[in-house]
Amino acid sequence: MGIGEQSLSLTFHGVRGSTPCHGREIARYGGNTSCVSFAVPGHDPVLCDLGTGLRYFGLGCDPDAVFQGTCLLSHLHWDHVQGLPFFSPLLRPGSHLTVYSPHPEHGGSVAEVMADTIKPPLFPVTLEQLPGSISFVEATDTEFTLHGRHPEVEPIEVMTRLIPHVGATSGYRLTWKNISVSYLSDHQQPIDGSMTVTPGALELCSGADVVIHDAQYTPEEFATKRDWGHCSIEYAINVAVQAKARMLVLFHHDPAHHDDLVDELAAEAAAQGRECGLEVVAAFEGMTLHLPC
Ligand SMILES: [Zn+2]
Ligand SMILES: [Zn+2]
Repeated sequence: MGIGEQSLSLTFHGVRGSTPCHGREIARYGGNTSCVSFAVPGHDPVLCDLGTGLRYFGLGCDPDAVFQGTCLLSHLHWDHVQGLPFFSPLLRPGSHLTVYSPHPEHGGSVAEVMADTIKPPLFPVTLEQLPGSISFVEATDTEFTLHGRHPEVEPIEVMTRLIPHVGATSGYRLTWKNISVSYLSDHQQPIDGSMTVTPGALELCSGADVVIHDAQYTPEEFATKRDWGHCSIEYAINVAVQAKARMLVLFHHDPAHHDDLVDELAAEAAAQGRECGLEVVAAFEGMTLHLPC
């Protein structure tokens, strides 16, 4: 096997929480909402979430090839699905995206909710009118396997657990060979500000090489938005430390957090993490991590 076949890589296409935003003051980290892609040797692309960053992932795909891929959708809030109708590979007949999602608490199945959202008058066409196709699979608190393009390829094992947020929300853990990456984009800290972590969230992150985690608030912001579904950066560090993860990627930056503030918060978090043997970095658009196995 060549060197390229020995590593899993993940790329951040959208790292912003809540709503897309733009401007010089947020240009370095970027203003697109949640979308992370995984490139795993022998596998079709795997995505976490379909926020506006998805459009840029799509623009990087081969324009002449039929697309096949999988998305692990955390939940149905706008900032996690808004990129779907702008995903250019779905403009090619034969392209297909399989979307795993928790069962929504409102509005029927995930397929029904998405069909109700992407249609006139909210959007010019329906999902069914796109040349490519999408299938939705509801998967809550379970494990499943993503197979490679050939039977001899090592499969990707996926674990999904419901995590506290607003409405049904999943966190995911992907394991390929000896590499594990956890994705908890929107994670409600206990509203009393304590550091308790649910067993499901701990299970997702246990011993992970990389934990991609909600980092929406400073402690002061959390104090005024306790039940908005998110957490302080300190809580994100606490989750990763409790789970004995190796690296924490701060994600889902608040739209009000300009680049200099994210730099400052990330430096503080990195110093805190170092004391516990945890590497901490802040995600930015275009960041790629290569994880060798
Ligand atoms: Zn979100
Ligand atoms: Zn949300």
